Amino acid sequence: MTHAPGTLYIVSAPSGAGKTSLVKALIDQLDSVRVSVSHTTRAMRPGEIDGVNYHFTRREDFLERVSQGDFLEHAEVFGNLYGTSQSTVEQTLAQGNDLILEIDWQGTQQVRRAMPGARSIFILPPSRATLRERLTNRGQDDDSVIEGRMALAVDEISHYVEYDYLVINDDFNTALDDLKSILRSARLDVRHQEQRHQGLLTALLS
Ligand code: 5GP
Repeated sequence: MTHAPGTLYIVSAPSGAGKTSLVKALIDQLDSVRVSVSHTTRAMRPGEIDGVNYHFTRREDFLERVSQGDFLEHAEVFGNLYGTSQSTVEQTLAQGNDLILEIDWQGTQQVRRAMPGARSIFILPPSRATLRERLTNRGQDDDSVIEGRMALAVDEISHYVEYDYLVINDDFNTALDDLKSILRSARLDVRHQEQRHQGLLTALLS
């Protein structure tokens, strides 16, 4: 077997769809897949670790990186800047690992333009009621805060049509299986397989 470059995946979802838990389970259960650690200017939340959840970056340093062309994509989300390091993406894929970017719809549009081979997945909650429940369970917020989150979620959902795959997170394990199927089927793509199995193909055709 020879080494084939990995595939780049984009995963987007409204807050409350369960994206982060699904991606974590996916990288735990499937070999050769990594998740990209983004840069952000937002404040660290309790329990978050610099370099693990995000590379927490000062706004001026972030803007300096933008001007140096360090980011494959970057966007402002809820008043904070977020970006994906171009060199990390290139290195991870060149090592033969698949890479997942957990980014919003604005970043997705930029990545799809820059890397047409990227595959994009949108995760939906199973119902409006479930979404509201998940957004409510996060804390003791008043109705106006929850309505604000619902409006942002609906705005994100309106971009689903720009994606290649749509996964509904009703039952967690079913949604996880769906994600695994997407990654596994891409690995069986003939162009990917012929690079991995050059030796076999040469022997069979000789
Ligand atoms: P949070 O701050 O709650 O972790 O993430 C807020 C939003 O920012 C989520 O929708 C997430 O997908 C998005 N996001 C996180 N990292 C990036 C990134 O590197 N680029 C873009 N465009 N969006 C990101």
